[in-house]
Amino acid sequence: MSNPNDEYDRFLSGLGGDCVLCGSKKAFAWLDKDEIDAGYESRHETTHFIWLGEDTGDRPQGFVCDACIDRLVLDERIEAYYSDLNGPLADISNKAALKAHELGAQRMRALLALPFDASGLVSPEAFAALPPALRCYGGNEPAPIWNIILDFVGYTASRDDPEGSGRQHALARAAIGMLRGVEFTEAAKTWVSERSKQLRSRNGTQTPPGDEPEPEW
Ligand SMILES: [Zn+2]
Repeated sequence: MSNPNDEYDRFLSGLGGDCVLCGSKKAFAWLDKDEIDAGYESRHETTHFIWLGEDTGDRPQGFVCDACIDRLVLDERIEAYYSDLNGPLADISNKAALKAHELGAQRMRALLALPFDASGLVSPEAFAALPPALRCYGGNEPAPIWNIILDFVGYTASRDDPEGSGRQHALARAAIGMLRGVEFTEAAKTWVSERSKQLRSRNGTQTPPGDEPEPEW
């Protein structure tokens, strides 16, 4: 079986591969248990799709073709939430925002848990053990943990970016020593509720305090 890290490097290089779902030879997006990330050669260029259901451990990892992405969208198993070219997408459902926020928080937690030496350096071997999508924050040389975290925080994460806000959420908890053991779902729901209120306010459909409808999940 091929090494998933090598396959992911092929994805980053735009080379494409065989779809893990249907076997098509023209697959230019990457699928794993967290999300689907479409490459430039995909019709969905640079769009990220979040899984909407629970992970039951049966999601494969590897290339996925556009036709399979379209089917997963139609079946409401995934939803587009972010574009590397255009930023956060408008009209993301509450459920997708919730899942993306959780994903960002869990990813930040994984990076914060990286082992580092007395100089604060993380070894390339430690990076190799991360999910492929996080490995690009490391390299082939030992790297300072603070630079890795800074890179991952991103400078564009805004109120509209559920995954980026999830990263910041986990980092804020780590800063005050309250990250360990946290379940992000409840906190993520609070974030999504706030986001819904802000969106209604921006759209001129603000409701009086106390009258806001509960988000649907
Ligand atoms: Zn396919």
